Amino acid sequence: MTELTEFQRKISALLPDLELRFRESMASHTSLRVGGGAEVMAFPKTREELGRLLNVSVLLDCKCAILGAGTNVLAPDEGMPGLVICLKDCLDGMEELGGNRIRLMAGVTMSRGAVFAANLGLSGLEFAHGIPGTVGGGVYMNAGAYGGEIGTVVEQVEVMDMAGTLRRLSREEMGFSYRHSRLEEEGGIVISADFRLTPAPTEQIKARMRELIAKRSASQPLDLPSAGSAFKRPAGGYASALIEDAGLRGFRIGNAAISEKHTGFAVNLGGATAADFRQLLTAVSDQVMARTGIRLEPEIRIW
Ligand SMILES: Cc1cc2nc3c(=O)[nH]c(=O)nc-3n(C[C@H](O)[C@H](O)[C@H](O)COP(=O)(O)OP(=O)(O)OC[C@H]3O[C@@H](n4cnc5c(N)ncnc54)[C@H](O)[C@@H]3O)c2cc1C
Repeated sequence: MTELTEFQRKISALLPDLELRFRESMASHTSLRVGGGAEVMAFPKTREELGRLLNVSVLLDCKCAILGAGTNVLAPDEGMPGLVICLKDCLDGMEELGGNRIRLMAGVTMSRGAVFAANLGLSGLEFAHGIPGTVGGGVYMNAGAYGGEIGTVVEQVEVMDMAGTLRRLSREEMGFSYRHSRLEEEGGIVISADFRLTPAPTEQIKARMRELIAKRSASQPLDLPSAGSAFKRPAGGYASALIEDAGLRGFRIGNAAISEKHTGFAVNLGGATAADFRQLLTAVSDQVMARTGIRLEPEIRIW
């Protein structure tokens, strides 16, 4: 057995009852299936456990990264030093608040949240049904699809700062813009989000959800590991069209490639490394820049 690091020994002594895993593979917690081991990965089940974990991380002066479902993250090959806090399925819970509002905990997947709303006869989250991330990750980066966006249906967000203090931020205070919220600059962990929705017949909502899922299956490479759109949409155009026009369909570095099916996606053909993906994203962005003068920015969070 490999010896524990000093940090691993200290954190397990301070938090004996919390689920902690050592050298947990990031590849098995990210949809790209890439990344080495996390020194410590923690799975807090409640906001209280999360608060204690953050207090200990301050005490031990360790770096701390937040992971939802890992569907928008490229994790490093050499692994993550310090603490990775995994919230998918951990901060769990869905609640009807009345007045056409629901509260979803950050670890709930957006698909589960959308089905919960549909069953209550509440419309507005149909677009989120096929997005494979959590509510926390979706709020953090203002996930959106097919004309819908988290930032337009959120009413308020409960956020914990890195010292463990809770506060509620209104939609306006969240500073949502295209695939962005203020949390990206300021930090803070989404604990739960309240959504204000619109009444509609459940069957009508579910029909729209089925329609959007069919569109995804027809156009996206869902049979290969990816992190969704590799690049943000540039002003006035689509990244996929610019990549296609540059002749980069199927362009490959190592085992990372631009999808043959959808040029907006970068896919793992099997055993790709984070280095393969970083080089691929840089090469594609450079080639599009040289051809069009437009610089594509990654949408994937590169850790
Ligand atoms: C097949 C496929 C299709 C996709 N389609 C879409 C799409 O249509 N639209 C779209 O917008 N995205 C899409 N995505 C990308 C991804 O699902 C979204 O970005 C999603 O919101 C990420 O959520 P996550 O829980 O997986 O976050 P992660 O990937 O785990 O994390 C992403 C970022 O959010 C932060 N984060 C996660 N949880 C929290 C939290 N609770 N508090 C604070 N920060 C947090 C992380 O630190 C990280 O920086 C797709 C991905 C795939 C694989």
